[in-house]
Amino acid sequence: MSTSTETIFKHCPVGCSCTLEDTDIKLPEGVLKRCPSCGQLLSSCSKAWFDESMQEFDVPLGTLPSGKNKQRYHQRMGKILNNAKIVTGNQNGDLLRLLDVGCSSGALLRVAKECGYDAQGAEPATQAADTARGLGFEVFPGFLQDAGFPDNHFDVITLFEVIEHLLDPQELLVEIFRILKPGGVLLIGTGNADSWTVGFMGAEWEYFDIRSHGGHISFFNPKSMTLLTEKCGFEVDNISTKRVNIRERKHASKPMYELVKVSREILAIPARWSGKGHDMLTTLRKPTS
Ligand SMILES: [Zn+2]
Repeated sequence: MSTSTETIFKHCPVGCSCTLEDTDIKLPEGVLKRCPSCGQLLSSCSKAWFDESMQEFDVPLGTLPSGKNKQRYHQRMGKILNNAKIVTGNQNGDLLRLLDVGCSSGALLRVAKECGYDAQGAEPATQAADTARGLGFEVFPGFLQDAGFPDNHFDVITLFEVIEHLLDPQELLVEIFRILKPGGVLLIGTGNADSWTVGFMGAEWEYFDIRSHGGHISFFNPKSMTLLTEKCGFEVDNISTKRVNIRERKHASKPMYELVKVSREILAIPARWSGKGHDMLTTLRKPTS
């Protein structure tokens, strides 16, 4: 039984049996740990610190993008969700059923609807879930494991910016596997801890900041993502990464930040080719037999 002051991860959540080791990345809540087997990076914050950071996340606006970001978000997600239709192999124009797990205030659900999906969500942050419902979407206001969806129900399930918050990602993935149709697609979007960005920035990478992200505690890479999802029965269709950063804006002077922007553009292409970008998208399928 753990107490609220002990570090939350005793073992690698991917299921590796080795002892976690310290990295040289020092965060305010403690040194970031690493699984020597799969490379997963793990927060050493306490349970109390984690619970507190999660509560700050429940606001009506949720993760709804605005202004220019909204347009960019719609374009990027539209492309991803249209591609998911191709991966399901169902291009007959049938209405595909999509579930967005951790749908927040419904940003992805709106794009999914535009792409022609029958879209619904699940979201434990009740204020954000209410906003999505206000937009006309059906949203289960709780954790997916409590929703009780039927077996083999959804064609596409999306899990964006969720898995890095979880103490036990296997539990959620097993439930997703159960409710996904055979041949159905799971999309997981999260950061890539094995990225050039982490190499350049270490503890300065904004994604590691537990306070500004409502409890980011578990940082995947292509290897740990593959191991975990295959263990839960999925087939990896594709893992792609993109974007590099070398300095956050708040840590750079104005002229330096101009240089940072140019460097990011130049590095973006080789990072994408070599799987070293910090935005990771994993496309998975539930086998048909
Ligand atoms: Zn591991």
